[in-house]
Amino acid sequence: MHLPNVQLHEANTLEDAADLMDRFGPHAEFLAGGTDLLVDLKTSRSAADHLISIAGIDQARGISQGASGLTIGSLVTIAELNEADLHGPWAAIQDATCVMAAPAIRNMATAGGNLASAVPCADLPPILMALGASVDLWSPSGVRTIPVADFFTGPRSTVREHNEVLLSINVPKSGPRSGAAYVRFALREGNAIAVAAAAAFVQLNDSGQIDNAAVAIGAVAPTPLLVRDAAKLLAGESPSEDLWAEAAEATMKAAEPISDIRASAEFRRELTGVLTARALRLATERVEDATS
Ligand SMILES: Cc1cc2nc3c(=O)[nH]c(=O)nc-3n(C[C@H](O)[C@H](O)[C@H](O)COP(=O)(O)OP(=O)(O)OC[C@H]3O[C@@H](n4cnc5c(N)ncnc54)[C@H](O)[C@@H]3O)c2cc1C
Repeated sequence: MHLPNVQLHEANTLEDAADLMDRFGPHAEFLAGGTDLLVDLKTSRSAADHLISIAGIDQARGISQGASGLTIGSLVTIAELNEADLHGPWAAIQDATCVMAAPAIRNMATAGGNLASAVPCADLPPILMALGASVDLWSPSGVRTIPVADFFTGPRSTVREHNEVLLSINVPKSGPRSGAAYVRFALREGNAIAVAAAAAFVQLNDSGQIDNAAVAIGAVAPTPLLVRDAAKLLAGESPSEDLWAEAAEATMKAAEPISDIRASAEFRRELTGVLTARALRLATERVEDATS
């Protein structure tokens, strides 16, 4: 596998990136860490002949946590995110970053690239969906904010316009007594992509009932998926194994898994249920841990 001839351009500002994209149009792609794009070029999945490196855009760097929420610059690497001191339910993002790829890839791969490449088995989207995150998309005409749950339109396809830079990922602050978790199944521990994955968020009220919940699944449908039916049946109920089983039924119903070299569609659907229950159980234990 050889890298085809490509011209590399470096953008140090968002405006530079937009100008270069204007100039090279449909033949150009933004380049962040390159861990997806360079593989796509080598395998002819991408036909780009101009790469616009956005690695020098400082506005897309850094992690900040405050009263308004958590902001993750799109160029934050998976390794940086994994090492950040994330508070409360946000720490569940590290359930995903600690299992992704291997350290060498995590040092290059970016959070923005993990969303923008829109691979159905990507690890960040399900937990970001469960946490109610959105992305800011920058273009010369302004910034659009899109919930991560509405970002994906199909395998390797999103609502992002070709000239829009994914600038940041914004995760809202959750109320007290909340917990979150992401769990996945892969064929081995290191350098393996998810066969199926589930993420859960729960917020309990003072009586221990679920005020608010969200469940998202990955690797079992054409896009990562927020399962709204599961959230509906959890709201107002008390946590129990029976309730997790009902939510698991809802995610198994929503899943549209495929069979491939890693697993059959039947096995993936079964895993979806098991992982949903596991994520909900862990998210709820984390609420209890945080309040005990
Ligand atoms: C060996 C290996 C193992 C892997 N394992 C995993 C795994 O376990 N889990 C997982 O989720 N992923 C895995 N990946 C995939 C990959 O590492 C991640 O998806 C990574 O986060 C992509 O980020 P990047 O910065 O490298 O993106 P790039 O390759 O630079 O870009 C990917 C795509 O997104 C676009 N893009 C990137 N950033 C932006 C932006 N800010 N604005 C607009 N468009 C943008 C690019 O134009 C390109 O189309 C693996 C990859 C490899 C090679």
